[in-house]
Amino acid sequence: MSERLAILGGTFDPIHFGHLAIAAEVCWQLDVARVFFVPTAQQPLKAWKHIASAADRLAMVRLATADNPSFAVCDLEIERGGPSYTIDTMATLREQNPGAEWTFVAGADVLRDLPRWHAIERLLDLCRFAIVTRPGHTLNLDQLYQALPAADGRITELGNLHLDISATELRERLARGAPVRYQMPDEVIEYIRDHGIYRGGA
Ligand code: ATP
Repeated sequence: MSERLAILGGTFDPIHFGHLAIAAEVCWQLDVARVFFVPTAQQPLKAWKHIASAADRLAMVRLATADNPSFAVCDLEIERGGPSYTIDTMATLREQNPGAEWTFVAGADVLRDLPRWHAIERLLDLCRFAIVTRPGHTLNLDQLYQALPAADGRITELGNLHLDISATELRERLARGAPVRYQMPDEVIEYIRDHGIYRGGA
């Protein structure tokens, strides 16, 4: 059987236990050998700008994932710069790991925008999607299949996790000095403190 690999793309501004928990769940439920965390340079469909620099977001992802041999960090999108399109990243990772079966992992909030992703039909051909439930976001696959018929049969729903942690809320908490421990790794909290990130506002 070919090796199963997964991509977890995100802004990771900052990375938190929601991200790490969904990656671990994917390894366990889908028998995935390795999850590649891919921080975006510029997320084409996100309206706000990143608060932390690409270098800081990448450094935090490295710190958070270092102790898990099933997690890898991929800096392709940050190295490439400009708008990050998953189709380009997937094409490169497939070349680097021939013969692997790929899954793209995302939270339920991503479904709404999926039909608008660049080259989404081609991407659905190259990888399956695992969509993880997320509090406050409905996961309506029938609605998605109506808007994007190519997704039908290509999506696995992971419904076991209900983690109400978001980077937006953590940025707000960090800006007002509220505790964030137990929502993100201690190493990341230290990095944020040492580099003075998220202090000025969310
Ligand atoms: P923000 O609040 O800044 O939008 P975020 O917490 O959603 O950030 P991202 O870096 O945008 O973090 O997320 C990367 C991926 O992880 C996305 O697919 C997102 O849906 C998913 N994700 C993040 N947090 C959770 C969570 N608590 N449960 C399920 N999926 C999550």
